[in-house]
Amino acid sequence: MNYQEASEVAKRNPGSILSRDESGEFYVRGPDGQPVGGSPLKSPGLAHELKEKETRIAQLEQELSKLRLHVDAEVESRLKPRLESIEAEWAHVQKVKTQLQQQVDQTETSLRKLRLLEAAYAERFGAAEVKEVSVTVESRDVCSRCGGDGGVNGGCGKCDGTGWAISQRETVREEVQFK
Ligand SMILES: [Zn+2]
Repeated sequence: MNYQEASEVAKRNPGSILSRDESGEFYVRGPDGQPVGGSPLKSPGLAHELKEKETRIAQLEQELSKLRLHVDAEVESRLKPRLESIEAEWAHVQKVKTQLQQQVDQTETSLRKLRLLEAAYAERFGAAEVKEVSVTVESRDVCSRCGGDGGVNGGCGKCDGTGWAISQRETVREEVQFK
């Protein structure tokens, strides 16, 4: 009941007391202490139902918080090893990165020294340039058919009994030429 409804009820029941419950609802109690003209919610059947619902809600809340704890523990136990391996990989990547940076620094230092040398040589002997000359390179490998023994009576068809497989490839050689 709101205040107006409750005060109407109180007026109709001399000796009654107008009061307010925890939820802020107004209610009226008769001289005998029993509720007078109270809201339908205060009837015993509904009050019982309300109580049951409150109990059920409390149960559900408890189950929910247990479930949350369970989920948290599950997530923790699954994520932790993954997180640890990611951290280890990350540390490895950082280490490699540092090593690469050191190599870059060393290379830059070497390059600076080479340029100084190049300038000094050019001053003394004249400018030179590096030309790329293409060359044919022969390489010898053990014949894959006869295993290098040339076959029976030197009859391996692949290496003509030499035991060697000779292959040629084009490559580029760098040469210094004075201008
Ligand atoms: Zn052969």
